[in-house]
Amino acid sequence: MQELIISNLSKTYKNGVKALQDISLQIPIGMYGLLGPNGAGKSTLMRTIATLQAADSGSITLGGIDVLAQPNELKKVLGYLPQQFGVYPALSAELLLNHLAVLKGILNNKERKEMVQALLHKVNLYEVRKQKLGGFSGGMKQRFGIAQALLNNPRLLMVDEPTAGLDPVERNRFYNLLSEVGENTIVILSTHIVDDVKELCSRMAIINKGKVLVQGNPVQIMENLQGRLYEKMIHKNELEQYKKEYQLISDRLYLGNQIVHVLSDTHPGPGFKLIDANLEDVYMSQIFNA
Ligand code: ADP
Repeated sequence: MQELIISNLSKTYKNGVKALQDISLQIPIGMYGLLGPNGAGKSTLMRTIATLQAADSGSITLGGIDVLAQPNELKKVLGYLPQQFGVYPALSAELLLNHLAVLKGILNNKERKEMVQALLHKVNLYEVRKQKLGGFSGGMKQRFGIAQALLNNPRLLMVDEPTAGLDPVERNRFYNLLSEVGENTIVILSTHIVDDVKELCSRMAIINKGKVLVQGNPVQIMENLQGRLYEKMIHKNELEQYKKEYQLISDRLYLGNQIVHVLSDTHPGPGFKLIDANLEDVYMSQIFNA
C-alpha cells in the first residue's frame, strides 16, 4: 500500500517552541489538506517530511522507504513546492525548467526535452514558455513551481500555502492542476485557507500549536458537529455579552447585523436555530477548543 505514515513526530526548536508534538498521520494517495493557523507547525512538518530538517523523535515511512533514515531515497520520489519559491526572473520558463531537469539528473537530451514540453503543457504555460519568469503573475509562478516539482514524476507532492495571493481564477486553475496530480499521487496541501481544503481534499487534518486536533474525511468531520451548532442574528452591541455567555465559534457581519454561530449540546435559547456545520465551523470550533 502506497501511504505516507507519520508516527509520533516531535520537534522542539532551540528557542523552546514545540513546533511538533507527537504528530501521527496516515496519508493515502489523493489530496490531503493540512489545515492550521499561522504558526501551527505546518511548514515544520513539511520540511521534516522533505528531510530538509531533522525531527527530535518519531518516524516517517513512504511505502518501503524509511524517510528519516534514507533521505536520498525519499528525494528521488519527492516533489516539493516550498512557501518561498524563488525563480530566476531573467530566464524563460522553458530554460529554467530545462536547467532544473538537468539538476534533477535527467541527462538524456531527448528525454529531458520531452519531459519539459509535457510539463509546460500540463501546467498550461506552454504558450508563454519563451517569456521571462520575471513577468509572470503569481499564479503563473505557482504553476511553474508545480512543473518543477513534478520533474521526477514524484510519488509524493507537497505544496506549502500555495494559493496565498492568487486571484479566484488563478486559484481555481491551480486547484484543478493539483486535483489532476492527486489522482495517482499523494498530494499534501498545507494551508490556512479553509476553502482550499473544502474544495479539494478527500482527507484532512487540522493542526494547531504542533498538535493534531482532528483528522479524517472533511464530510465526516463536519457531521461531528451535527445537532450541536446554532445560529442567531443579534445586534452588534450584544456581541461581547454573547461571547461571555456562549461557546461562540464565529461571528460575522450581515447587512449591519451580527450573525453568530454557537456550539451547544442543548438548545441555547430563543432566536437560535439549528444549522448544518460547514468546514469553517469545524475549523473554528477546533481552534477555539484547543
Ligand atoms: P506554520 O507553517 O503552520 O505557519 P511553522 O512550522 O512555520 O508553522 O512554525 C511553527 C512554530 O515554530 C511557530 O511558533 C514558529 O514561530 C516556530 N518556528 C518555526 N521555525 C523556527 C525556527 N527555525 N526556529 C525557531 N522557531 C521556529
